[in-house]
Amino acid sequence: MTASSQHSATGSVPGASPRLRAALDGLPAYVPGRARATTGRTFKLSSNENPYPPLPGVLETAVAAAGRLNRYPDMFSGELLAELAERLRVPVSHLAVGTGSVGVAQQLVQATAGPGDEVLYPWRSFEAYPIIVQVSGARSVQVPLTPGEGHDLDAMADAISDRTRLIFLCNPNNPTGTPIRRAELLRFLDRVPADVLVVLDEAYREFIRDPEVPDGVEIYRDRPQVCVLRTFSKAYGLAGLRVGFAVAHEPVAAALRKTAVPFGVSQIAQDAAVASLRAEEALLERVASLVDERTRVTDELRAQGWTVPESQANFVWLRLGDATADFAAACETNGVTVRPFPGEGVRISIGEPEGNDELLRTAQTFAPVPPLPTDR
Ligand SMILES: *Cc1c(COP(=O)(O)O)cnc(C)c1O
Repeated sequence: MTASSQHSATGSVPGASPRLRAALDGLPAYVPGRARATTGRTFKLSSNENPYPPLPGVLETAVAAAGRLNRYPDMFSGELLAELAERLRVPVSHLAVGTGSVGVAQQLVQATAGPGDEVLYPWRSFEAYPIIVQVSGARSVQVPLTPGEGHDLDAMADAISDRTRLIFLCNPNNPTGTPIRRAELLRFLDRVPADVLVVLDEAYREFIRDPEVPDGVEIYRDRPQVCVLRTFSKAYGLAGLRVGFAVAHEPVAAALRKTAVPFGVSQIAQDAAVASLRAEEALLERVASLVDERTRVTDELRAQGWTVPESQANFVWLRLGDATADFAAACETNGVTVRPFPGEGVRISIGEPEGNDELLRTAQTFAPVPPLPTDR
């Protein structure tokens, strides 16, 4: 066959389609938490969002920014970076914003790893990690959680190879809520080669109450290999606006500026984030009430006989094994959506008290599942 018969002028070769990278084959799909479209009161406890509306003044700020939608946003997010730099006591050159901290995580992988490289993280953990890694062409190395549902840092250190380029630590871990404490983190970091990037994903930082859980920004200061990820999606209640950021030394911060989608973070998101930072008092109040609810839900579930790992996030984890789907369906029937991980367990976001009450009522109707081994 001649080239001209294979590729007609119109490009309409039957059955042909553009050639895509093999890395996309079999990519796991990110499963968003379900929102139920029914009448009557329903509670979405499936995506770890803040159940409360934006903080005081934030909506007005966002609406004002919407009046300038004909203009591109500030490409460098100058006002937001200045506000963050002052609060965190870091140089502006050590900050980078992105389209949610998932966007920044993707940039970090893009900047460090490709075919032949390895990215190491605990499992089960944040479901975006395997997707981001696979798209990059690098290989995921997943280290099972401990029986207590936390990071197995010794096993993770043992799993580092010459090909490891990036390590995600999820503190506290999504979906189990379990934290990494200071002493074990420092011991782990001492075992990581200096040319491997360690990303501390702190999406739930504001909900931490255990004083032994370190602030990643303090850990980063004298460790150039550490990068901290934070987001406005959870405690700050701006999940819909897509803005998160990283704190990292040069050259990692510079790599994030290089890999950013130009103008990715809208002006609405930038301005709303600044206004949210300035509404700190109201933020702390809301976070405190969610933490109180977390304690109440944990205590009541345990009183019902459930094994609930100690959570430092705005969700709790029930390892249900084969009963996972039935539990999620029963919640759904009662107007509560949770996030099932089939065959493993459910993650239940802490919502408003009525939603938490409904969840507790549903859990009460189930015989508690005895503790299961985690490495299945
Ligand atoms: C929710 C979450 C994020 C943040 O996502 P955004 O893209 O900022 O909305 C990051 N990491 C973990 C572990 C999360 O659970």
